[in-house]
Amino acid sequence: MNIKLPEQVNTAIKLLEESGFEAFAVGGCVRDMIMGRTPYDYDVTTNALPDEMAEVFRGMRQLDIGLKHGTLTVIIGDMPIEITTYRIDGEYLDSRHPDSVKFSRSLSDDLSRRDFTVNTLCFNERVGLVDEFGGVSDIENRIIRCVGEPDKRFTEDALRIIRAVRFACALGFTVEEKTAESILRNKALLSNIAIERIRDEFTKLIMSDQVFDILEEFHAVIEEFIPEYADLYTCEQNTPYHCYGAFEHTLKALESSEKDTAIRLCMFFHDIAKPLCRKTDEYGVDHFKGHALLGAEMAENILKRMRYSKAVTSKVCKLISLHSEPCPKTKQQAKLFLSLHGEETYEDFIKVRRADMLAKADPHSQDEKLDNMLSFLNEIRQNGECRSLSSLAVNGNDLKAAGITKGQEIKRVLDLLLNEVIFDRVENEKEKLLQLAKEFTE
Ligand code: ATP
Ligand code: MG
Repeated sequence: MNIKLPEQVNTAIKLLEESGFEAFAVGGCVRDMIMGRTPYDYDVTTNALPDEMAEVFRGMRQLDIGLKHGTLTVIIGDMPIEITTYRIDGEYLDSRHPDSVKFSRSLSDDLSRRDFTVNTLCFNERVGLVDEFGGVSDIENRIIRCVGEPDKRFTEDALRIIRAVRFACALGFTVEEKTAESILRNKALLSNIAIERIRDEFTKLIMSDQVFDILEEFHAVIEEFIPEYADLYTCEQNTPYHCYGAFEHTLKALESSEKDTAIRLCMFFHDIAKPLCRKTDEYGVDHFKGHALLGAEMAENILKRMRYSKAVTSKVCKLISLHSEPCPKTKQQAKLFLSLHGEETYEDFIKVRRADMLAKADPHSQDEKLDNMLSFLNEIRQNGECRSLSSLAVNGNDLKAAGITKGQEIKRVLDLLLNEVIFDRVENEKEKLLQLAKEFTE
């Protein structure tokens, strides 16, 4: 096994060893290196107690906010490295937080408190790889398995329930049978967990390449904190446009979309209102009129509940509300779309529509329309064509100078002028626009 730690991590480990302590890179970074992935951060575990760690790294840049709980972040050559004292977690009374953190001098103690076998691996250059729980074999077989008794581990800390599902999606693994059964048996314990912590795991989950198989198996876990999903899971779509039910369609669309938080959230929730809007006509064909607007409303509630930022929430809801709108077919229609929603939404709309289409019966049937949308945008940008109030040749001050004083009236006239310019009924020139403004206010 070819594991090579970055020099900065080796330096941290060596400094601890030179002072007589043990230290290992541990957890996600070792797992990722074995899988041939590049870790995005490195954790080190050591038998040095917090004060002893602080002493070893004295004079170096460090963040010690977590020191009481045994974590010191040392910055070596611009790389932050989290170093944590070996721990045994104390009794858990509420499926949430260990009631006490006990430091330990034994590596085995520290590894056995970790969640899944693939997250217990540790490594340093002196000792090599330490694999006390069969983590390497589980990586080879692509399995998420609890360390120890699953029921006990999920009861201790129910966040592990969603973490298991998240790792299975993110790593492309399956969940070992006993662990899987225990997840479904204990899922209700998630209600003890702060929603922000669930949200952070959920966000990582939806960024995965593939989610369908795992969420098909564990949709009930998602429904613990997003109960609205239960109806989507059973919602059929008997229309010529669709080859999947609403749940499968949604997740296939998500898998086809760009890995951006707002886009992924949009895909995850874009059809959330379909079950509520479903009407079957006399030929047995389903219609989902109004699902985009209602979906945006439902998503807003859910995202607020999950404490996503206002910026992300409003971006996601806007995209959901627009997702089934027709594509602009002419440059004028494109400019109208741009004037109403802005360029970022225009580009995101294309991304969302492409992903949505890829999970339908005729996945490429709108490619040309969407390519045209992009060409319109490029052309409009290149020519600097007017498509927003800010690119209009008159502004509020010009209208004020021309005698229109009320704020509301100014806004109304500017919008009208923009519309006239977009539909080529007047040139985007100051004099001509002022003349027209006069006519609008007479
Ligand atoms: P990622 O690539 O997402 O960062 P990771 O494995 O590093 O994956 P983290 O959430 O950063 O995951 O946690 C670091 C390590 O701490 C894990 O590998 C695991 O050993 C341990 N760990 C984290 N959270 C828990 C938990 N709730 N219960 C038990 N062990 C945990
Ligand atoms: Mg990590």
